[in-house]
Amino acid sequence: MGLEEANVLAERLRKEMVARQLEPRRIRDERVLAAFREVPRHLFAPGAGLSEAYADHPLPIGEGQTISQPYMVALMTQCLGLTGEEKVLEIGTGSGYQAAILSRLAAEVYTVERVASLAERTGELFRRLGYENISVRVGDGTLGWPEFAPFDAIIVTAGSPGVPPPLVEQLAEGGKLVIPAGSGYSQRLLVLERRGEKIIQRDEGGCVFVPLIGEYGWKQKR
Ligand code: SAH
Repeated sequence: MGLEEANVLAERLRKEMVARQLEPRRIRDERVLAAFREVPRHLFAPGAGLSEAYADHPLPIGEGQTISQPYMVALMTQCLGLTGEEKVLEIGTGSGYQAAILSRLAAEVYTVERVASLAERTGELFRRLGYENISVRVGDGTLGWPEFAPFDAIIVTAGSPGVPPPLVEQLAEGGKLVIPAGSGYSQRLLVLERRGEKIIQRDEGGCVFVPLIGEYGWKQKR
């Protein structure tokens, strides 16, 4: 298959992904749906075949990590309620797919990854694709990224035993924090919102993520 042919097929697969996996479920935000029609998910999943990359399940990305199922990426993104002006923090860069989606919907994206090899590969891909509003850093994301705080939205894409306090501290007024919290095997998708001194929390259902490893996450595996 030539490059042009592959691009045409990928565009069709993206439209089908949105029509079959996102629209029939709870994804209604038109800007979110448009971002999913635009971002080339197959380029973030090296090794997966073209149709595999757009299928209704998570994908391996190396280093024992995964890109979430498109629906889960869409649900978490929609929960942030982005309008285009926001400064967003992501914990768990991984393949970069979630950050790429966010970069189409917000002003600036800051993303932290603990595995250096993943952060390097993904930073290179962002440069190649011209996603210039994304900054990647290697480190423990459970500490947030204090230099650029506060953030209008924070998204954690690994499963945590609880909500890391530094992330709540780095949340701007009216800001939203989306995080899978629970055991190592399954979590609840929590959405926290800062209203002055108060934090309002709701539960968006069950989910399964790879572990968030760090000072306020799970202990490092030996
Ligand atoms: N958002 C990613 C999902 C990657 S899976 C994507 O779209 O592909 C979760 C990622 O979180 C893994 O890459 C893992 O290495 C990373 N991670 C786990 N604990 C972390 C921590 N404390 N800080 C930063 N990244 C972490």
